[in-house]
Amino acid sequence: MDRANTHSPDVTVYRAEWVLPVSAAPIADGAVAVRDGQIIAVGAAGDVRREHPQAAVDDLGQSIIMPGFVNTHCHLEYTTFRGILDDEGFGDWIIDLVEVKASLTPEEYLLSARLGAVESLASGITTIADSTYAGVTPAAVTEAGLRGRLYLEVFGIDDKRLDETMADVDQRVQAARAAAPPLVEIGLAPHAPYTVSSRLYQEIASYCRERGLSVASHVAESREELAYIRSGSGRFAHDFREKVGWERMLVQPYGVSPIKYLQQWGAFDEHFLAVHCVQANSDDIRILKSKNAAVAHCPKSNAKLGCGIAPLRDLMHEGVRVGFGTDSPASSNIMDMFDEMRVALFLHRAVERDVSVLDAQKCIRIATLGGAEALGFDDRVGSLEPGKRADFIAVDVSSSHFAPIDNPYSALVYGANQDDVFFTCVDGDVLYRDRSFTRLDEETIRGESFRVREKLRARVARGVDVGAAESGWWHTAAGDTREATG
Ligand SMILES: [Zn+2]
Repeated sequence: MDRANTHSPDVTVYRAEWVLPVSAAPIADGAVAVRDGQIIAVGAAGDVRREHPQAAVDDLGQSIIMPGFVNTHCHLEYTTFRGILDDEGFGDWIIDLVEVKASLTPEEYLLSARLGAVESLASGITTIADSTYAGVTPAAVTEAGLRGRLYLEVFGIDDKRLDETMADVDQRVQAARAAAPPLVEIGLAPHAPYTVSSRLYQEIASYCRERGLSVASHVAESREELAYIRSGSGRFAHDFREKVGWERMLVQPYGVSPIKYLQQWGAFDEHFLAVHCVQANSDDIRILKSKNAAVAHCPKSNAKLGCGIAPLRDLMHEGVRVGFGTDSPASSNIMDMFDEMRVALFLHRAVERDVSVLDAQKCIRIATLGGAEALGFDDRVGSLEPGKRADFIAVDVSSSHFAPIDNPYSALVYGANQDDVFFTCVDGDVLYRDRSFTRLDEETIRGESFRVREKLRARVARGVDVGAAESGWWHTAAGDTREATG
């Protein structure tokens, strides 16, 4: 401890019934001391208070203080899509999503992303890794005060437009980086192996390596993708291509898995986040490990869309960095990391018929420090340790479904949900307290987002089979949604 500053009045000590540092054992009657957005002490409340006698004390009562959740995959701008494409399998769902997406303006996407940011803070998510198609998420995340890496989505299968696409990418990256506050990093998200050509994957990989940018891509999500990459067949080769106007472009059978395919084009390195990996086989897992790529595991989205369950045990056994992702409300409805942990634990135990595959402590670790490691943010967040940034939440455990707490990990994973979060702090800023926002006008944001939701409902009510006419955005240079929304 830095003795010179032990009497500093600008220190705040947050005390709670439990503190869960994640990187160390739980502390009963614990406290976290924060100065200038940085954690300076974690320990027994009595000790921390003795070390900082002048500090302001913020007693969070009967709660568990833990690191904020790191959501390693979402699309905040699809928050208002919740419930409009439920009960469709992955193939139908993505084909319909292509059509519905084209009906919103960038302003409406911003309203949708703002709702997502509100919901993230209220559910205890402090860091997000978000793929943004309309490019509005950086603004919503900045307003909300969240920490994140925002990957600008790139589509493109026509190599004749490669130069145009990369020029557009460069323009978008420069604009987004110039506007990004210190808590927000910009990366690129080539959408998926069935929407991005191999040459575009290569171009993006070298562009990002030259500039130190991170990359995220959906990969090995569905059986449709597997059939398309392996044998050039299935719904993506036919219905999907027809829908987006690519039916005249040659489909190649590559004869390999989607992960092997991306490896062949040099996509993977330690800055690559492979989203989903449901269809990953043992060779694929070894590729991910050998390239030190990380994985975003989205158990609820994958289950809801009927895609399957990613091989989490094998990924962890191989030592691949893995975090949990909620994916967007278009597929998983609520961005509740408690739900994500619980679904993961139950699914993997049920399928493997083995409780040792995942336990509550491992779930909490994956949802916090594991996610931070997957993003390369573990030097600053993911656990409560002196020197890390003060990203933490408090979960109310005063209600009867928690009592008595013998094991805080179990209480959180088996019993809690996002509504139990009442306090969220990012980089030392308290953004949510007693279930109210300190910066955001929740009522206005919700009201505006409902208007967007009504428009989407009306769009779906007209039928989501109007052909490629509305999918004009797909043909424009990546990210330029203006033509699509006019
Ligand atoms: Zn996604």
